[in-house]
Amino acid sequence: MADRDGLIWLDGELVPWREAKTHVLTHTLHYGMGVFEGVRAYPTAQGTAIFRLEEHTRRLFNSAHILGMAMPFDQDTLNQAQRTVVRENGLESAYIRPMCFYGAEGMGLRADNLQVHCMVAAWSWGAYLGEDNMRNGIRIKVSSFTRHHVNTTMCRAKANGNYMNSMMALQEALRDGYDEALLLDAAGFVMEGSGENIFIVRDGVLYTPDLTSALDGITRRTVMTLCEELGLLVIEKRITRDEVYIADEAFFTGTAAEVTPIREIDGRAIGSGTRGPITERLQTLYFDQVHGRRSLHPEWLALV
Ligand code: PMP
Repeated sequence: MADRDGLIWLDGELVPWREAKTHVLTHTLHYGMGVFEGVRAYPTAQGTAIFRLEEHTRRLFNSAHILGMAMPFDQDTLNQAQRTVVRENGLESAYIRPMCFYGAEGMGLRADNLQVHCMVAAWSWGAYLGEDNMRNGIRIKVSSFTRHHVNTTMCRAKANGNYMNSMMALQEALRDGYDEALLLDAAGFVMEGSGENIFIVRDGVLYTPDLTSALDGITRRTVMTLCEELGLLVIEKRITRDEVYIADEAFFTGTAAEVTPIREIDGRAIGSGTRGPITERLQTLYFDQVHGRRSLHPEWLALV
């Protein structure tokens, strides 16, 4: 990943990909205190457009605020940096990764001279969970790892350190032959995937966990808006594991995962064991939206 051509935006400048380096005493590397985003750009008839750029950047700044990190740039600068990186790397579609971290100015938890540094990289990235899985659905398992308690690390922040929990859960699921993990919260209720929010469908109504220890997903919000436009009811509530077992359909949402159908959980087929009709409708609509094929919500597309 580090050895390729291209340009990365680092602290206000575009630097060659291979030279976008930081010192081994980088504070965030030691303690995990940093914030990041995952953003996608898609080709549209008007050119490449970043989907919901401003919302992602706003969440990045909210994440920093939660962690008490003083951002050295404003939101407009970070928005512009993301556009620049996609354009200057000649990408028609892209996954964009902004990240803000403490540098090597000090060490130890008490370091009080730390500076926040910001980087933005972008590269081509296809379907996160695989093309076949987008059509046929994935197999998941409830994780033996619990999602962060609301007062352990705060999940409104997309914080680097939060992802140790995600990776433990994902690695366990992959090792056991599944495609993704479903994490329960500290009280045992369904929360989210390692990098996705979850929806279930039962009798034509959609349900999704209320946001306690799950990330406030931008794809989740997009899908909720699409449901409203289709006249589909979405209820946010506590969901139990067995409610997922007996759902008619289930799917994950995320910038990387987009809308990914779930066909099986813990060895039990969900509904017909294939992508359900409501999932398929929302998936199609989501792709129409991000590719600018709908006239609604032009404000969600930021041309690069
Ligand atoms: N939950 C977690 C833990 C995530 O990492 C992500 C991906 N950012 C999501 C949910 C989905 O969020 P979004 O739709 O904004 O990408």
